[in-house]
Amino acid sequence: MASPVRPGSCIGLPVIASARLDLPEFRPGSVWLVGAGPGDPGLLTALALHALEQADAVVHDALVDRRILALVRSGASLDFAGKRGGKPSPRQPDISDRLIRLARAGKRVLRLKGGDPFTFGRGGEEALALAAAGVPFRIVPGITAGIGGLAYAGIPLTHRDTNSAVTLVTGHNSDGTVPDGLDWQAIARGSPVIVLYMAMKHLAAISARLIAAGRLPDEPAAIVSKATTTEQRVLVSTLAEIAGAAAAAQIEAPTIVAIGEVVRLRQALDWLGDGQALDPDPLRRETRRKTG
Ligand code: SAH
Repeated sequence: MASPVRPGSCIGLPVIASARLDLPEFRPGSVWLVGAGPGDPGLLTALALHALEQADAVVHDALVDRRILALVRSGASLDFAGKRGGKPSPRQPDISDRLIRLARAGKRVLRLKGGDPFTFGRGGEEALALAAAGVPFRIVPGITAGIGGLAYAGIPLTHRDTNSAVTLVTGHNSDGTVPDGLDWQAIARGSPVIVLYMAMKHLAAISARLIAAGRLPDEPAAIVSKATTTEQRVLVSTLAEIAGAAAAAQIEAPTIVAIGEVVRLRQALDWLGDGQALDPDPLRRETRRKTG
């Protein structure tokens, strides 16, 4: 039977969801690796809400929005597993051990991650550790910043007139360097749209590599900072100038970077914007048709 709605809980949504959607039971002694989406609590999945309402122990990352953490069941333990105040982040094996210990103590363990747990989120590593330890787990995908964040900036990930492929790239190796193991030439040539995570530190170097590999310096590029949160900012520039423009505008992390013609569509699709007149033909298709 569904539990009664607690005062102050998220208007009983999980109760309704679990009752109507026949969502799976969150079993004691198991771990759910859940994506919290990029920020806006409205982008949580029904399964994520269900887990927040039922978990006994929540272990979360820095990128999980405060409004989402406020949905954690009262009485559940809330444990932070990220960087804070310049202190180094806990080692990945320590986080996995913590999840295993909590599960073996019979808790319903919610491992809450920003965006999607399997997209640059180390969810795979944690799930492998759980599998090796014989701890039952479930993966709850979330909306990744590279998709949801762009959508909140009015930039589609794919669009028939511009790209039938897209590449998600991390701009940062685990040791903090530019990922040189990547074939930037192949990415530049093969992917009309490139979406960069964790790229601010090396954005100038990455842009230079892409231009050296043949991408046009004046190709449109956009940065979405704190995407889908109340502090979202969007900066549109060109591939050659985006790094300098971001520094000048003091763009703050976290940021997602989109490179490619899809960025132009924002001129028509900035649905969150400030009400400025939108451009109905951002790709100049009508103009080209008339003049061509
Ligand atoms: N698993 C996450 C990504 C974690 S890596 C996901 O699927 O979204 C962390 C990087 O994600 C950040 O450096 C940034 O590039 C991006 N990111 C996460 N949340 C973001 C947000 N709200 N706005 C912009 N970028 C974000």
